[in-house]
Amino acid sequence: MRILVTGGTGYIGSHTVVELINNGYDVVVIDNFSNSKPIVLDKLKEITGKEIKFYEMDLCDSEKLREVFKKEDIDAVIHFAGYKAVGESVSKPLMYYRNNIDSTLSLLEVMSEFNIKKIVFSSSATVYGDPEKLPIKEDAKLSTTNPYGSTKLYIEGILKDLYVSDNTWSIAILRYFNPVGAHKSGLIGEDPNGIPNNLMPYIVKVANKELPSLNIFGNDYDTSDGTGVRDYIHITDLANGHIKAIDYVINNVGIDCYNLGTGTGYSVLEMVNAFKKTNKVEVPYNIVGRRDGDIAACYADPNYAYEKLGFKAEYGLDEMVESAFNYAIKNSKK
Ligand code: NAD
Ligand code: UDP
Repeated sequence: MRILVTGGTGYIGSHTVVELINNGYDVVVIDNFSNSKPIVLDKLKEITGKEIKFYEMDLCDSEKLREVFKKEDIDAVIHFAGYKAVGESVSKPLMYYRNNIDSTLSLLEVMSEFNIKKIVFSSSATVYGDPEKLPIKEDAKLSTTNPYGSTKLYIEGILKDLYVSDNTWSIAILRYFNPVGAHKSGLIGEDPNGIPNNLMPYIVKVANKELPSLNIFGNDYDTSDGTGVRDYIHITDLANGHIKAIDYVINNVGIDCYNLGTGTGYSVLEMVNAFKKTNKVEVPYNIVGRRDGDIAACYADPNYAYEKLGFKAEYGLDEMVESAFNYAIKNSKK
């Protein structure tokens, strides 16, 4: 079985490529390096012992994409490619709509032409907006508060319409909670450009003395210690969720959405304390005002993914914070 992985040199894509190869799949990767680096391909070879078949191209380029589908005997697709920074999407909405939606339309059109109708799509827990009930189930009300989230919600809608028009498609929509950590080798991990927006990469840079201190956005939420609560999931667990999903779409038709989370929420302070304790480092912080658009708490009901796909997260908080720091130390640009 040969899987096309779009955005396969990115954070989640690269970890998924490793697990696909570990599970005996052939992999073809497309990426335009808009948010990743060519060196990831060398690291993937080092980890897996396999040369990765790779096309550097923009997924919006349907002509080039047709060439890839002509050359490679693709059985199914995992579609990661897209822009993902919430704040940037607010300042550059057209860039986000153009890239995320155009690339998906181009992919789905070319897949239809080649009669390849099996796809796993990267959605996000952001489509739940400010949840009315916790833990969040897949049938919760959907809403978004920023253009990035809207692109995910629109693409979910496009996939649903596509399935209604042709029910020979097999589509798994994966709603990720908060992926963190890195592969155990320390060769691949999360490497955001500039000052990170997300909590874990920020903590890592503070611990590594690349940034002076963490700003904790609010300690007056209605949570156990007042700081925001999220469902952090180890990147290797998340990658393994894709193996379960691709196995499922290869063997079944239909469309469905699945939460990929652990079901446990941790507060910002719990994350900071776990990081300090496990890695034996200091993480100085200041409590500042709430960040615009943030919600108090968000964690998954992970049962549907378990019942239907057999997916259950295995790694705990210690492994998340340990692997995140291990990658940072091995790849520090200090
Ligand atoms: P990432 O930025 O590390 O990876 C995305 C990859 O897609 C990058 O390598 C980028 O170069 C590539 N890409 C972007 N546009 C492209 C295009 N037009 N053509 C070809 N390649 C293109 O992001 P990630 O964290 O690995 O996320 C993967 C997917 O999961 C994204 O769709 C993201 O929105 C979604 N997601 C991520 C998170 C998270 O916290 N990381 C949470 C929920 C959902
Ligand atoms: N957070 C924080 N300081 C930071 C980055 C994030 O206090 O520098 C908090 C944020 O308010 C939220 C949690 O950490 O409660 C997770 O934020 P992140 O941006 O990683 O994920 P998201 O909010 O998108 O779920």
